[in-house]
Amino acid sequence: MAKSDYYGTLGVRRDASAEEIKKAYRRLARELHPDVNPDPETQERFKEITQAYEVLSDSGKRQMYDMGADPFASGGGAGAGGFGAGFPFSDIMDAFFGAAGGGGGRGPRSRARRGRNATIRVELDLRESGFGTTRELVVDTAVVCEVCTGSGAAAGTHPDTCDMCHGRGEVSQVTRSFLGQVMTSRPCPQCGGFGSIIRNPCQECSGDGRVRTRRTIKVRIPAGVEDGTHIQLAGEGEIGPGGGPPGDLFLEIVERPHEIFERRGDDLHCTVQIPMTAAALGTILTMETLDGAEELDIRPGTQSGQTIPLYGRGVQRLNESGRGDLLIHVNVETPARLDTEQEQLLKELARLRGEERPPGKFAPGQQSFFSRLRDAFNGR
Ligand SMILES: [Zn+2]
Ligand SMILES: [Zn+2]
Repeated sequence: MAKSDYYGTLGVRRDASAEEIKKAYRRLARELHPDVNPDPETQERFKEITQAYEVLSDSGKRQMYDMGADPFASGGGAGAGGFGAGFPFSDIMDAFFGAAGGGGGRGPRSRARRGRNATIRVELDLRESGFGTTRELVVDTAVVCEVCTGSGAAAGTHPDTCDMCHGRGEVSQVTRSFLGQVMTSRPCPQCGGFGSIIRNPCQECSGDGRVRTRRTIKVRIPAGVEDGTHIQLAGEGEIGPGGGPPGDLFLEIVERPHEIFERRGDDLHCTVQIPMTAAALGTILTMETLDGAEELDIRPGTQSGQTIPLYGRGVQRLNESGRGDLLIHVNVETPARLDTEQEQLLKELARLRGEERPPGKFAPGQQSFFSRLRDAFNGR
């Protein structure tokens, strides 16, 4: 593969500084820019100087080139349209000439665009979110028009090349600036930048290439999702205009609160009330959990505010094995109304325990309201 003479192309010496190389390229680029001078030979020259600049302006590539390698020669012909992957052609153009007015890339833009994403809310109860479910969802969406298969043109017709921009999708304008004459481009106002005009739009879709419809999809909702979880269904959104690819459909999970169990992550919390006597003497409670009736062992001497865990009785962990726990908070009920006999019995108990006039002692380990407040201020 013949090695190009990049120094010769830019007309600089082999020991030229980065600044000299930049100056030489700018001078040539102004002369040879395709918008200023569109004939094919000049365009070819322009590509050559741009390629030379691409190599010589990058110290790494220049060093490689000086050692005998040509970064562009491997791709299949130096100079011959070697604008391969990774070649920041438009970057260089933008750096010198400013981005083309609003148009972005060169050439006509495609009518096909990606469809929008859609989000639908799915309300679940705790059992469904915690253990997974399957739902049939009705979605209003757009599908590709079968009459024109997305092209937007009536059957048997094709879009015509725009006569204002000759299919380029953009129109150019010469302005004067400190660099001299500069060409700026903007999207063609006649065809909207598409480079073509649909003279006979498809009747079915009015030229959009897609039609609105309602479809039913069956989705599996994994166990362990919670309020606010988003599930992405790739490609299930609406199809794009002009036969473009579909967007994604997102399911936003809304979890209805449960009347007994409060969910925190994978754990469930609930509160049971037990009479003072049961807390003191101990008992077996039968309580309803998501797994059916469970026997709960209340030890003698259970305190109000104590938590009894039932391990593995929470909800399924999302995308993991195992389940959270069910944490049962105990609330000891103090009898509010006593008949005479009960009152006598309790008084007798208090006397036996020496609790007729208990001291106002602080509970061990429990912080007072003020010390908690102080810690909050000190960031503890
Ligand atoms: Zn159509
Ligand atoms: Zn046009």
